Amino acid sequence: MERRILLDLFPEELGAWLVDQGQPAYRAQQLFAWLHRGTPFAQMHTLPQALRQTLAESCVDLPMSLRQAFPSQKDDTVKFLYALDDQNLVEGVLMRYHYGHSLCVSTQVGCKMGCAFCASTLEGCVRSLSAGEMVAQVVLANRYLGQRGRVGHVVLMGSGEPMDNYDACVRFLRLINHPQGLNLSLRNVSLSTCGLTDGIRRLAQEGLPVTLSVSLHAPNDALRQRIMPVAKAYPMASLMEAVRDYVRRTGRRVVFEYALIDGLNCELSHARELAALLRSLQCHVNLIPLNHVSERDLRPAPPQKIRAFLEELQRLRISATVRREMGADIGGACGQLRRSHLPTQS
Ligand code: SAH
Repeated sequence: MERRILLDLFPEELGAWLVDQGQPAYRAQQLFAWLHRGTPFAQMHTLPQALRQTLAESCVDLPMSLRQAFPSQKDDTVKFLYALDDQNLVEGVLMRYHYGHSLCVSTQVGCKMGCAFCASTLEGCVRSLSAGEMVAQVVLANRYLGQRGRVGHVVLMGSGEPMDNYDACVRFLRLINHPQGLNLSLRNVSLSTCGLTDGIRRLAQEGLPVTLSVSLHAPNDALRQRIMPVAKAYPMASLMEAVRDYVRRTGRRVVFEYALIDGLNCELSHARELAALLRSLQCHVNLIPLNHVSERDLRPAPPQKIRAFLEELQRLRISATVRREMGADIGGACGQLRRSHLPTQS
């Protein structure tokens, strides 16, 4: 019999299971709180010994482990390599900002979106993660931090496309927000998508105050289609319409991610086209110096071009910043760390 991953479940669902086992329903709150603190069944000392035994036999307390942590020598960033129970690997990044610890969470093993600059997608998508497997990444990061603090911010920007694993991602958001668990404010959470508009429209109706981040990377369809296959299925006009709908319904500012790639999307004319596209939209542009991925022949734009692009956007009254490069020495770009630990392909 397959063992149940309890981190996938809300207290009500744990309660139903516990009642089936002849336990009082209030045990569900205790169990939920222990699980989200990362306590193994054996140490859940408010639960009866016999129940702990049954749980250990038929359920999973933590569906993954921290295989290795790679602290940056340059800043406070740490890259994590996690091993799932089926031996698949995913990665995460823990960053320290002035406002606290922020964790980048993976939503899938690999990714099927095929973006030309991204290492996560090189082997396609192996499988989606369950909500509990995403919660476990936060639990393990908290365990790693110990007395040094707790994860206060989460970005769904690790490997995978959240909108391609929609239900599990929304469940994850509600689980980490639960007051009896991690109680993380969803105002401190960003969900990043390559632009699956159906997902954006659905998310707008969930009533979750998360920040939507859209990986745009180009100011028009022709250019976007060259680097992001998803742009063929979801043209810019429908994407922007879904984003405007998101802003209207949630009242929240949307963030656009734009990686500057040498010779491709970083001319001043692109900045002007981008500014025109985003005009009158409540948004912020996050310019990212492209992380070079050795399997891809795309190169980062030179610093002076990045600065000029930023200044042009600001001159045109578009709120924009350049993302700080963190952990550049530990394989910062998506999917690089996992790839370096995969068996070599023949
Ligand atoms: N699938 C989602 C979330 C994961 S990718 C999405 O596409 O948004 C997280 C962010 O990293 C995205 O903005 C993605 O475009 C960007 N990214 C991927 N590879 C990169 C690279 N080599 N350099 C810079 N940014 C990269």
